[in-house]
Amino acid sequence: MRAGGSDPIREAARILAERGNVVVLTGAGISVESGIPSFRGSQGMWAKYDPMEYATLHAFMQSPRKVWEMLAEMVSVCGGAKPNAAHRGLAALEEMGVARAVITQNVDGLHQAAGSRRVIEYHGNLDELICVSCWKRYPTRDRWTPGSVPLCDCGEILKPNVVLFGEPIPWLAQEQAEEEARTCGVLLVIGTSAQVSPACDIPRIAKESGAAVVEINPEPTPLTASVTDIHLRGTASGVIGAMVRMFHDPDMRSPKG
Ligand SMILES: [Zn+2]
Repeated sequence: MRAGGSDPIREAARILAERGNVVVLTGAGISVESGIPSFRGSQGMWAKYDPMEYATLHAFMQSPRKVWEMLAEMVSVCGGAKPNAAHRGLAALEEMGVARAVITQNVDGLHQAAGSRRVIEYHGNLDELICVSCWKRYPTRDRWTPGSVPLCDCGEILKPNVVLFGEPIPWLAQEQAEEEARTCGVLLVIGTSAQVSPACDIPRIAKESGAAVVEINPEPTPLTASVTDIHLRGTASGVIGAMVRMFHDPDMRSPKG
């Protein structure tokens, strides 16, 4: 199933059209064009804040005020971000009936902001705060302002409802993601190398269940040589934008075999 012709994007789009049941797995790479740096890399959050010191559940339980220095920056950056052409393109593919769900490792809420309806948030999201003592939840905007540390009515410091290192994936999101991976026709992996456990299981489950795996990343990743059938090298917005234009072509939407 290697891309044979001169246009691998068209070849991939044809596979999406023929197989249908497309499920999308996204990671930090898709939001870089929205101005949210990925966590790793020289501009990333982890270059500034050691994740073992700032992003574990243990660190939060020990010193929540310190961890909120990092969280405040995340909430500010993500709160000001707008969806980009890749997010909007995926929403369009769902609207056209090509894609049926997005599984995202991102916590920025940009898929929903772009109009995607079936979004499985594997690592939670920053829109909600949760009390680690009494489990009460609040919209972030109701409890947090820059420079402050948000408090629960019970007096505890609130935690964003995101998965910190050392926390399990929310069970419902995990179940739904694995079910999507088991039953999809194509898994479209965008902006992630899916190396963090257990997100790394999703491409493997899809592949073992018979799905084609199409990867959109600017550079090859460990997935490329293992489970990927077609690697489309480029930016998420460039490749998704080209695919959406192809799906507007009636020939593509009703393939002649
Ligand atoms: Zn509480």
